Amino acid sequence: MDLAYHHLTKKRLGLSTVMHDQYHNIRVNDAVWQVAATEKISELCCIKAALVKGCRLTLVRSLICVSVVFAAPEASVADTIHANKEPSGSVATVVAPRLDNTERLEFTKVLDGMYVRYGRHEPVSAESIAGIANHGFIVGETGVAIIDPGGSVDIAKRTLAAVKKVTSLPVTHVIVSHVHPDHSLGLAAYTAEEFERKPAIFGHPTLAAALTHNLDFFKEHYASDDTVDRLLKLIHAGQIHSVDEELIVDLGNRQIVVAAYDNAHSGSDISVYDQTTKALWAGDLLFVERLPAIDGSILGWLDALNQLGQYDIKTVIPGHGPIGDYATLVRPQLHYLNWVVARTREAIASGVSLNEFISNRDNSAEGLRAGWELFDTQHALNLSKSYAELEWE
Ligand SMILES: [Zn+2]
Repeated sequence: MDLAYHHLTKKRLGLSTVMHDQYHNIRVNDAVWQVAATEKISELCCIKAALVKGCRLTLVRSLICVSVVFAAPEASVADTIHANKEPSGSVATVVAPRLDNTERLEFTKVLDGMYVRYGRHEPVSAESIAGIANHGFIVGETGVAIIDPGGSVDIAKRTLAAVKKVTSLPVTHVIVSHVHPDHSLGLAAYTAEEFERKPAIFGHPTLAAALTHNLDFFKEHYASDDTVDRLLKLIHAGQIHSVDEELIVDLGNRQIVVAAYDNAHSGSDISVYDQTTKALWAGDLLFVERLPAIDGSILGWLDALNQLGQYDIKTVIPGHGPIGDYATLVRPQLHYLNWVVARTREAIASGVSLNEFISNRDNSAEGLRAGWELFDTQHALNLSKSYAELEWE
């Protein structure tokens, strides 16, 4: 297979801006490429592109996802996909009802004293960041816990307004499932001076450092200066408390168990288990419908799922996608992660390079992609993450 590497700057691509969901035909050397940007590409962003003849690949720089499809004159992209072989093993399908992608700013009461606002399945971008992740709140007899502040200050404020409609009790706790901006940016709405009684903010022991580390990146792509300034202030004021392993929060005759995990989906994952309803808020340890995104450790993630399985779970609320029965909803994700681990180990053992591994069409076959949203913006990054981790086993 011919491989050549190019750094394509926006200027070289001949584009002034590459917008979300638009496709552009680009001529590089003698090849015509179709570039689908799922993000605005900033002036300085270089797209590291691997030109692989006749293959489709997805390239990612940090949270910016750029899908590049090599439009070979002799074979259409559709032909390329159909030529793929099915992966071995059973095919994963999502059993839960699919959510439509319409704007959902309303909260749904899902269980007694528990409200969820569902996110939409859209690529991560400045426009979508506030509305793609699930979040909500739990009402006890003395206070309310917010589970994930959401992806913007506006969303966080709407959440506080939704709480007021349901109860006059104060918000006493804000629990952040992990550092990713679609879940965490709304934390900026919780700066102390705006509350008579400031809610206690809890997150993974790594959360404050992870937020600090990412603030410039958030500012560049997703958040206003004001949001970032507020977050910084909050971090410096020591307002984020660490959950070391496990913490029980009492909301008044309602106890919730907050647990921290080692490096898994991200390096800062937290789950929340409501003992009253036996509902587990899994954060991004569980993706339903939307393809899981590996930003931490694939093996650590599988370990974390084993730990989640120890809870007596009646209902699970994933970080993305509809709620439901845990055993049913976790199955497609387990199938996907185990498949990626097995394929990666196989490739490494047989001396296949990272680039060959990512560009091998068998590794993004239709049977694997079945049922998953945003497969093409995430899958290749997952392969790359998995390879980088398992190479050192
Ligand atoms: Zn995440």
